[in-house]
Amino acid sequence: MQELTMEETFDSEVNKSCPNCGAELKFKPGSHQLLCQYCGYEEFIAQEKSSFEELELQHYLKVVGENAYTETIELLNCKNCGANQHVEENYKSLDCVYCGEPLIREDIEKEGWILPGALVPFQLDGKKARQLFKNWVRGIWFAPNNLKRAALAPEGLHGLYVPYWTFDANLYAAYQGQRGDYYYETQRVRTKKGIQTRQVRKTRWSRVSGHVSGFVDDILINASEKKRREIPEKIAYWNLKELVAFSPKYLAGFVTEKYTISLKEGHHRSFREAKEIAYNWIRRDIGGDTQRIGHADIKLSDETFKHILLPVYISSYRYNGKEYLFYINGQTGVLSGSRPYSFWKIFILVLFILVFIILIAIFAQ
Ligand SMILES: [Zn+2]
Ligand SMILES: [Zn+2]
Repeated sequence: MQELTMEETFDSEVNKSCPNCGAELKFKPGSHQLLCQYCGYEEFIAQEKSSFEELELQHYLKVVGENAYTETIELLNCKNCGANQHVEENYKSLDCVYCGEPLIREDIEKEGWILPGALVPFQLDGKKARQLFKNWVRGIWFAPNNLKRAALAPEGLHGLYVPYWTFDANLYAAYQGQRGDYYYETQRVRTKKGIQTRQVRKTRWSRVSGHVSGFVDDILINASEKKRREIPEKIAYWNLKELVAFSPKYLAGFVTEKYTISLKEGHHRSFREAKEIAYNWIRRDIGGDTQRIGHADIKLSDETFKHILLPVYISSYRYNGKEYLFYINGQTGVLSGSRPYSFWKIFILVLFILVFIILIAIFAQ
């Protein structure tokens, strides 16, 4: 179990500068190195711990309480969408990653947080992410012609570490239920063609009870909730085998978001997922063709958690006064975006199809 070291300042290691030229070093995606973008100097990020710790959950919930924290972090809070953002390096101006609202340096606040235990480093760099975005814009149908120009402003794309809670536990569930086995009966039915027979499926139910148990690994709960902008389901799959022990050096050059869902609330949500898992195990245990679960007493023990950071690129762009968002998974490159449609392109296509149908109809006569 990790000892709580309050007031240990999280930003003690930040603003690492290049020993050659003094410029700020940034994390190089796809590596475990810091890179100087001016002179090319590279430095390995030392893996301090050989493996990252799972923290014992009950200790945090009971002893440390709702506002559990282990360190402090400097944060900018977006007045518009509520996202908490942290930036490692010095910067002149910064817009909210999610909504583009300007963030004011003077508004910086120090807040406590549970230091992340692990993170998945960015695999794609900004250049690659922009290329994927460009290809996507090129490939979409019925997009307004000047979309590309509007969408590809380089300052619009940000790499963001998004906070998640993960929970592990031993699960035990005792259940009572019913097992359904299908069988078929032949029925005679009267139709226009006369009497016919058909097979009708029936279910034979029998009472069952038993228990299931096992280890539940890495239930992933999104720890940041904003008023509108959620990370789309489609891109929210990361290979957690690539988690590395947390070091603030991986954050250099990216924006980090602080969780807005507390550990307690995250744990609460994880139970819903644990219940789903338990029900699946129970259904498999009951067997047969279909199952009814009457009662399940689910118990979790030896619960542990991690606070982890996962990489996403976000580009928010405005088009005709409306805002659109585009997301890329920073590990896998999977993308998802919302997009405008060109009214005139669709209108002309529909017109063209109508004319075509009319011409065919005329020639057919
Ligand atoms: Zn340098
Ligand atoms: Zn915002």
